[in-house]
Amino acid sequence: SASAIVIGSGIAGLAAAVRLQVKGYRVTVFEANAYPGGKLSQFEQDGFLFDAGPSLFTMPRLVDELFLLAGKNPKDYFRYKRLDTLCHYFFADGTRLNAAADEEQFADAAALATGVDKTKVLRHLRKSRYIYNTTADLFISRSLHKASSYLRWDTFVSFLKLPFLNVMDTMNGTNEKGLGNDKMVQLFNRFATYNGSDPYQAPGILNIIPHLEHHLGAYYPEGGMYSITDSVYRLAQELGVQFRFETPVTQIHIRNNRVTGVEAGGQTHAADVVACNMDVVLAYRKLMPTQPQPETILKQERSSSALIFYWGIGHSFPQLGLHNIFFSKDYRAEFAAIFQQNTVCDDPTVYINITSKEDPSHAPEGCENWFVMVNVPADKGQDWDALIARVRQQVIQKLSEQLCVDLAPLIRTEDLLDPRSIAAKTQSFQGALYGTSSNKRMAAFFRHPNFSSHAKGLYFCGGSVHPGGGIPLALSSAKIVDSLID
Ligand code: FAD
Repeated sequence: SASAIVIGSGIAGLAAAVRLQVKGYRVTVFEANAYPGGKLSQFEQDGFLFDAGPSLFTMPRLVDELFLLAGKNPKDYFRYKRLDTLCHYFFADGTRLNAAADEEQFADAAALATGVDKTKVLRHLRKSRYIYNTTADLFISRSLHKASSYLRWDTFVSFLKLPFLNVMDTMNGTNEKGLGNDKMVQLFNRFATYNGSDPYQAPGILNIIPHLEHHLGAYYPEGGMYSITDSVYRLAQELGVQFRFETPVTQIHIRNNRVTGVEAGGQTHAADVVACNMDVVLAYRKLMPTQPQPETILKQERSSSALIFYWGIGHSFPQLGLHNIFFSKDYRAEFAAIFQQNTVCDDPTVYINITSKEDPSHAPEGCENWFVMVNVPADKGQDWDALIARVRQQVIQKLSEQLCVDLAPLIRTEDLLDPRSIAAKTQSFQGALYGTSSNKRMAAFFRHPNFSSHAKGLYFCGGSVHPGGGIPLALSSAKIVDSLID
């Protein structure tokens, strides 16, 4: 049978490996790290278990689908529950809002907490659903770059300009018009960060994101986010996919406009198909430097990155849940700092994820495992050590005030992830979380397609290519690669 090589075992690489093996290919995955999962990994420290990267799980059917494709029962591998409360929001002025998954309940609580007109919230969410239903198939499920996806390109582009899609207005502009309430605008603007973008620049069409969380639902995988990686990895192994860890691919071999294999571990490995899950910028620059480089695409602005403090907290906080947001006072200034000044403002929004709320075994008795995240710019060589020291202080002070405790002495153990270590651990260009940003109006068209137009048999999957970053889109990219291979 034909052979396939997958470069990288991020979630998209794992999904591509499963799909290709099911298709009948003999699949080998080369992974630079000693472990699978890339950004979607996990570690333990002093009795606290931490999910290292992603914490919000949406569209679980994209994971289930992999097991079904292989003729297995997903429940035998991977279980998850739907969350009743999406997020605990803390606004800078002390206002609190627990966002219920139930739309009516959410709108009622929002009206009570912020004074927003309830019908506006409901209308805004309905609109989000409508835009999603009208566009998702085009944007997410198909290769935008194959003419066969559409009747005509120009018809498609004019479709995108239809006023209701809000491509011509910014996300913030759309939210201001739709909600007319500062706090709710801030809450809805935050969805831009789900793909590392700036709500003051990104087009209003990104308002499809709240639909994912508010209607399709937010989920918690039993055991934590890492069980997504773990279960798909197990499935791949069972199907016979070969894994070569600590074996970085150093070159993609291309001859006569056809991929022939890769160089890894000092050896040449032949393959009929290569699916590259490595960040596409570094894949071109490092693995195929002599091939034509799609500069316009490779030079797109990167998404934001993150600073994460993993804190083992020797205390429990009943007012917190699985997902918690402590908003900044000035959201516009926060994004201007990230995307224009390449720095972090003095009062950044702080996100805390606490999986021990769902899985008490993730922290010692009476303790909590805090994943504390601040959005920061991609790595452009800033003085990160100085920035991190300042932000750490500001975060501790902000949380201490909001939670009425002295937080610093409660931190029993600590680790850190920053743009430099994200880049080093997952070979992501500039440590961006989600590949390119969606700040430009037509950003969707500037992501790299899921195939190479220069080398037959070479495909791309993962957060840095079409349709974009985040687990659901990374999984979709593997699905599109699957559909492109006959
Ligand atoms: P990656 O996870 O980027 O992995 C790529 C893999 O390829 C790595 O294992 C790397 O070692 C390997 N590799 C690279 N080059 C080579 C080579 N030459 N040879 C061999 N191996 C190589 N998404 C969500 O859906 N929800 C969230 O809440 C969320 N939060 C996030 C928070 C953080 C802190 C981070 C970092 C990301 C977050 N994301 C979130 C984004 C999500 O993690 C990514 O979009 C997704 O995991 C990307 O998967 P990927 O398949 O592109 O590969």
